[in-house]
Amino acid sequence: MQQGRRGFSWEMIGDLALGRPNLGPTTRLEIYRLMQFSLRHVLEEQLGTEMADRLFREAGKTAGQAFADRLLGPLTSLSDYVRRLQTTFREYGIGIVRIEEADLSKGRFVFTVEEDMDCSGLPEMDMEICKFDEGFLAGILERSTGRPYRVTEVDCWCTGERICRFVAEVVTEP
Ligand SMILES: [Zn+2]
Repeated sequence: MQQGRRGFSWEMIGDLALGRPNLGPTTRLEIYRLMQFSLRHVLEEQLGTEMADRLFREAGKTAGQAFADRLLGPLTSLSDYVRRLQTTFREYGIGIVRIEEADLSKGRFVFTVEEDMDCSGLPEMDMEICKFDEGFLAGILERSTGRPYRVTEVDCWCTGERICRFVAEVVTEP
């Protein structure tokens, strides 16, 4: 680790009950998106779109791992896990999750997310935008199943769908 770097852990989020006794743990989604898209703007300008996407995916993965450790725990029963995932995503206002496919032994899942916090309502673009979410879901699955996953967003609000659809596949070494 470089000097001065703090690494990442859930503890960095801090004690919200102590720090925000009046405002509490929530904020407006505009402010979350303001941070996300201004950060994306700077990264794209300085490093290009491909690298910005990669960094968002990597950050999402780190976040997903911490999220799974903190809020989901290991996958023991698939139906119970899916229910926990749906409830937690809803409780934290991330999105409304549905599972279209779930095959743990094959290592393949298809998720849809409605009202996604990153992209629902955005203007249409020529590409799927939810790179952070791709990493986030990959990090969650990796942590909960113990196997590495690659997640690809195949439909997005931004490409004219009204939901985001993510295909998750286990990464098998050649
Ligand atoms: Zn999306």
